[in-house]
Amino acid sequence: MIQAKGYAVDGPESKFEPFSFERRDLGASDILIEIHYCGVCHSDIHQARNEWQNSIYPMVPGHEIVGRVAKVGSEVSKFKEGDIGGVGCFVDSCRTCENCNDGFEQFCQKHLALTYNGTEMDETTPTFGGYSSQIVVDENYALKISEKQNLAAVAPLLCAGITTYSPLKRFNVRAGQRVGIVGLGGLGHMGVKLAVSMGADVTVFSTSPSKEPDARNLGAHNFVVTKDPQNLEPLVGKFDFILDTVSAAHDLNMYLNLLRTNGAMVIVGVPDKPAEVYAFSVIGNNRMLAGSMIGGIPETQEMLDYCAKHNITSDVETIPIQKIEEAYERTVKADVRYRFVIDMQSLSEEV
Ligand code: NAP
Ligand code: ZN
Repeated sequence: MIQAKGYAVDGPESKFEPFSFERRDLGASDILIEIHYCGVCHSDIHQARNEWQNSIYPMVPGHEIVGRVAKVGSEVSKFKEGDIGGVGCFVDSCRTCENCNDGFEQFCQKHLALTYNGTEMDETTPTFGGYSSQIVVDENYALKISEKQNLAAVAPLLCAGITTYSPLKRFNVRAGQRVGIVGLGGLGHMGVKLAVSMGADVTVFSTSPSKEPDARNLGAHNFVVTKDPQNLEPLVGKFDFILDTVSAAHDLNMYLNLLRTNGAMVIVGVPDKPAEVYAFSVIGNNRMLAGSMIGGIPETQEMLDYCAKHNITSDVETIPIQKIEEAYERTVKADVRYRFVIDMQSLSEEV
């Protein structure tokens, strides 16, 4: 077994503490990644605090993992020692069901081995995520990362990047369209960058007036403060596509009303409370309300290659692991600009 170090929480109310655990020895198709950076996703917070009522403790969160490949198993072909590798939200799946065959591993019909707060394919062994020194993963579930980009800024692409890229592609967002991004946090700011790169006219809907200059620097064309619903009235029926990234319960109807005929709104944020949708909000203009969950391995690689080509990364604030509690507090207060990323070097500096 490989000795790993990380930070874990022991329960919904507990604080992060240093945590020692074991990673499995390398199998023939496994690689060992020395983790350099791990992004802090709001899903980490939801799960560390058991807001989705499915938490397994102790929990080492983290599913935006980037690092250097330190070792490869005997049959590994995609990676060699020294390459940069990434791991996103899952580390294995059955590989035989319809969804796995179609590259939608995230919807594996048998078992999805989540990167943390889950179990391996034996459905027993707990998985531990990227707030840690290293990870062992099957090469088929690791992503290839370009050396050319800033690795700390690439890490959030593994979740925030793919979660916003996938629905933008599925709904064929393109030049000439009006796109709304609701919530300017980790996912939202990636949604802005990606939609702008696809040629769309992008409007940010935000509860934080102070984020307007940032939104415009990210490439957004318009910025609407949602605290005053009157600001939305002139925009009714004007949008082709809206991506809702908000992490807390909020009114969906006011955004659905902004969609034009056959327009679509996709929910990616996962508040802990259900939303109320009026039939009138969707029957008018033949509107569509859909959801989207991360992306499969082929599409995640496609997104990483797209971002390398278009020079797209995340805007990050790098922190030592010891500052994780503060990062959570600030994220919950919507005070993140726009993704916290943990520098794992800080872990090795601990005695
Ligand atoms: P984040 O960085 O905290 O951003 C969320 C943003 O939502 C905030 O910055 C804020 O933007 C807005 N917001 C927060 N509370 C609000 C409220 N009460 N009313 C209105 N707006 C509010 O979070 P994230 O990491 O981007 O994640 C967003 C959500 O997506 C989380 O629920 C997360 O679990 C989920 N997620 C889903 C997937 C998936 O596959 N579907 C993948 C990853 C994450 P403003 O300041 O601009 O208002
Ligand atoms: Zn995430």
